[in-house]
Amino acid sequence: MRKIYHHTQALCPACRSKVPARVVEKNDKVYLEKFCADHGFSEALISSDPGWYRESLRYVKPKQIPLQVHTTEFKGCPESCGLCPEHQQHTCLPVIEINSACNLACPVCLKRFKKDFQLSRDSFEHIIDTLILCEGRVDVVNLSGGEPTLHPELGDFLRLTNAKGIMQTTVSTNGLRFLSMPELRRLFRDTGALVALQFDGFKPETYVRLRGEDLFARKRAIIEILEKEDIRYSLVATVAKGVNDDEIRNIADFFFRSKAVSLMLQPIVLTGAAQSFTQSEKLTIPDVVHALEESSFVKKGDFNPLPCSHFSCFALAYYFILDQDRFLNLKEFLDHEDYLNAIANKTLPCLDADGFDLIRNKLYDVWSLADAGSLGEQTLERIRQVLRDVTREGFAPNKAFSLGVEAMKAIFIHDFMDKNTFDFGRVIKCCNPYPQSDGRLVPMCSQNVFFQEESHA
Ligand code: SF4
Ligand code: SF4
Repeated sequence: MRKIYHHTQALCPACRSKVPARVVEKNDKVYLEKFCADHGFSEALISSDPGWYRESLRYVKPKQIPLQVHTTEFKGCPESCGLCPEHQQHTCLPVIEINSACNLACPVCLKRFKKDFQLSRDSFEHIIDTLILCEGRVDVVNLSGGEPTLHPELGDFLRLTNAKGIMQTTVSTNGLRFLSMPELRRLFRDTGALVALQFDGFKPETYVRLRGEDLFARKRAIIEILEKEDIRYSLVATVAKGVNDDEIRNIADFFFRSKAVSLMLQPIVLTGAAQSFTQSEKLTIPDVVHALEESSFVKKGDFNPLPCSHFSCFALAYYFILDQDRFLNLKEFLDHEDYLNAIANKTLPCLDADGFDLIRNKLYDVWSLADAGSLGEQTLERIRQVLRDVTREGFAPNKAFSLGVEAMKAIFIHDFMDKNTFDFGRVIKCCNPYPQSDGRLVPMCSQNVFFQEESHA
């Protein structure tokens, strides 16, 4: 069977020209098919499960635009990035690249900076102010690099995001400096910044292939230190077919048993240094979902696309922690519509005032229907306890966020695009930009595929 879902524009992988394309189901998979006048036909697998793709079409939310855009006139995509007036989504999670320096040379790195740079404090503050201007309120920012813990002013940056009212700053890191720098650990503990730790699995060969050397013993030591010293962290795994897809289930089990607040899985993407990988090593979102469903803690149907970005960009599942062995998927508690409202356009669901009301009203419904049996009294009591904690001295977003992080675990799958899978219909819904010092917010995939070599300084 062959079915055309929609037409779009994509890239010819040979010459990178913008070419007509269509999303097609065939041979029980979904492909992006492209035709270039000079280089002919090409295709890229975008979903190994047409059922998942069809179901994803239900997860489309109306656009929510930013308060301000940087480019006032649209002259084409991605030339007008951004954001420009044509862009169909505001910013949920900005990723600020603060330096290019790194203490590893990972074969899987999606960056390849041609020029070294180190963001100044003034530029950093300008970026934060611009974000607040564009969004009104910024809950979360991520600092990345390079290796951001090598930036000499990281401490100033973390204190500044706190002073500007940003609820959570996360720092993407290989974590190696935490082993030998107690002062770095103290900085994270004192500022409440979250360590987003690269953690790709357990096999030495996984690390050799993805990171260039066996890092597992050091990763285990870093996690032990973070847990012992009560430093908040999340796990970030890059996954590739035939490399560590057989470890996804164990990574998930490890995550649920750990103190990590979230797990991010990123299928490899052929940009930057990772161009030595091949398309056949790429996993699609349903591949990762099905591997996660093998975990002792994940059930079939727990995952769905994130409705605010394009449905092919993210999938996610949120769990309430009931006790150390039991986790309640948020979908089991909320109706489909309520659930979509809870997860769209925010980093943690149900922790703004609206989301909080959603959960509280649902609790009242359950009580009034005398229907506690469907969830279990113990489960309801746990949820009540979180609500009580959140409202103890009146509802405050920061406190709700912090308690929510303690009460929930989240798993995200983020499927970046490269020159093979780049779809202009997708990038206009990007909610994950790289803010630039000049005020532009450039969708990450646009930056990685088109503007990788620009200076940030
Ligand atoms: S990706 Fe978005 S911001 Fe960039 S040019 Fe296209 S519509 Fe505009
Ligand atoms: S960074 Fe790429 S994959 Fe992620 S939301 Fe933006 S366009 Fe989609």
